[in-house]
This record gives sequence, structure tokens and C-alpha cells, in this order.
Amino acid sequence: MPGRPFPATKEACSGSIALEWIDDTGAGRHLSSIKHIARYFGVSPETVLKWAHAPSENISFYTGGGSDKKAKLALTIISKVWGRGELRLLDDCPEVRSSGMIVEDLDRPRIHWPGDAPYYVRDKAHCQVVCPEWNRIYPVKVEENVPIFADEVVYTNPGPVHALPAPPVDEAPGGEPPAPAAPPLADGEGAGIAVAPPPPPPPPPAHLDSLIERKRKEATSAEHLRTHFPKNPFCEWCQRGRVTSPRMRRRRQDPDVLPEQPLPAKVGERISTNTYMVAKSAADEVKVAHGGEYCAQTCRDSFSVVSVSLKIQQRTTENIGAVLLHFSPNRPGEATVCKGDNAKEAMGAVKGLGWIPDPSLENRFPHNSAHERDPRT
Ligand SMILES: [Zn+2]
Repeated sequence: MPGRPFPATKEACSGSIALEWIDDTGAGRHLSSIKHIARYFGVSPETVLKWAHAPSENISFYTGGGSDKKAKLALTIISKVWGRGELRLLDDCPEVRSSGMIVEDLDRPRIHWPGDAPYYVRDKAHCQVVCPEWNRIYPVKVEENVPIFADEVVYTNPGPVHALPAPPVDEAPGGEPPAPAAPPLADGEGAGIAVAPPPPPPPPPAHLDSLIERKRKEATSAEHLRTHFPKNPFCEWCQRGRVTSPRMRRRRQDPDVLPEQPLPAKVGERISTNTYMVAKSAADEVKVAHGGEYCAQTCRDSFSVVSVSLKIQQRTTENIGAVLLHFSPNRPGEATVCKGDNAKEAMGAVKGLGWIPDPSLENRFPHNSAHERDPRT
């Protein structure tokens, strides 16, 4: 049961209340019913009715309860995660959210991988789906947010459910899609209609050797080198890109696990710095700047991700201190600075400014990678 009571009046609405909903790929709209809500929250139907209004559009539904169900009333809800939504109120219907609407309106892909819990992607910019076109089964149409698939079936006697044949491991040479194996329809035995072909033998185990061999060949092929997509573990450039690309969290951060370091909340709170030696010596005329500078001090603000590189003549505590203060004029105790490498001058400068030196690296492995990546981009 939800912790907070259902608001008795519109004036009494003092915060969000907890509820559960069914994710429905077959629902064209978000649905519920006065009956369900009243029962769920233990309130009278009249209380729920106070919140009801006319739906924004007039459509009928074909549900498990029958066809041509019309919603005369609707409720509007707002949720932190799922935004604003209109619930059509049918006669008797549990709390249902239309998967298609969530995907399209909220721009959130829905992924249901066999064996894993289904999930919606919060931000599709941090998600990638690699599945060749030939390996996809599309619906024939999408009607009112509900995908509709075409199929050919045979009505037969009850029997065990057949697993579909596993997708082929090796693509046919030349990138041609492999002939799709027809899934078995019925096991024939005792079946009244003898039209089903015998089930094909199970696919052979994955040819790991040939897969590796193929990937190895692909890595140096002109086709791969043009786009470097999909990424190839045997391609030197793909691997370099992987090492220097920003890390994305694959799992949601566990709310029970506190991060080792709290994230900065404002600009200037957390800075990282590093010294780059541009020339091997002050005598190198090609690389030394006109003022005799042969080092560059890079500063990066962890909150804003602003990164600045300033030339300095020598790596001295004084020079680095001046650069840090120029980059982020903070008062003593206001900033925490972590170093890019083992530069005692940098940490000396941080102490000199009265800032808090952090001997740890911003990212533990391989090094201060967030900082070191920036000057390259
Ligand atoms: Zn590559």
C-alpha cells in the first residue's frame, strides 16, 4: 500500500503519492479506472472523481474487457521520472502505462533482453544498440502507439513450446543476410494438420575461432577503416578510441553505495591540474615560446568541465600558483585540487594558496584520465 494517503480534496494535495503501474506494450494510451484507484488507495470513488476531467481526445479502446470502450473521464498526473501524463479512465482497468507512448513521447528506448529485467533508457545519448538490419523483426504497422506484427499460423493440438532457432553466429560472406530459418510451428505428432515442417536441428555451437578470425580480417579491411563501426577489438584505432573515450556508467548508480568522493556542487569546488613539458629544455628553439616558456599548466574544473592550458616558463611552485589563481580565484579552503601526476610543485602551489590538496587522482585508473583526455580534444 502507498505510504501517503490519496488527497481528499484538491487543496489537500501536499506531495507525491506512491503507486505501481503495469507497463503495457499493447496499450495505446495510459489507462486506469476510478474503481481501481479507489480500491488501491482505499478511498471512495467520489474522492477520485474530484480529480477527473474530460479526456483531451475522443477515442475508443479495444481491451481485454471488449471492444469500443470509451473513456468519458481522465486524470492527469505528474511524476518526477515520467513527466506529465493523462490517464483514460475505463470502467474497470488496472493502472496501465502505454509503452509506445513512453518510448515516443519521452524519447526513452525500452529494452527487454531475455533473462534480464526490462528497462527504459533514461538518456538515449548514453545507449547504443548494435543489431544489423537483417536481424530485426519489424511490425507491419504501429497503430495508436501499439506495434502490430504480421504472422502466419497453424491451429494445432497443445504441446510444448518450441524455442526459436538461435540467430546465426556467422554472417554469410559478402554481408548477404543469411536465409532465415523457418521456426517450427507444430511437432506434427498427433497434429491434425500435417503442414508443419520438422523442427530444424539445433544450430551448431558458436564457431569462436572463425569469429575471431573474421574480426581479425575485418579490422584491417578498407570497409572497417572507413567508418570504424562497429568497433573492432582487433583494430588499433578502435582500441585507442576506446581507451581515451569518456567512461559511461552501464548500471544505475546504487543509491546504497556512497561514491568515494562526493561530486562537486559548484564551479571552483574541485579542480585538477597537470604540468606538460612542451620542450625537453629551455634551449630548444623550435618548441620554446618567445617568452622562454617551455611548460604548459593545464587546469580543469570538475564541475563545469572547463579546461584551460597556460604556458609557464618553468615548473615552479610560484608559476603554478599564479596559473591556478588565474584559473579559479578561490579563497583559502574553498577549492580542492587533485594533481595530474606526482608533481610536488603543483601540490606546493595548492598549499601556498591555502587550498586543500588532494593527493588522490581524480580518476583512479589509469591516471587522472578525465583531466588528461581534455588537452587532446
Ligand atoms: Zn577500427
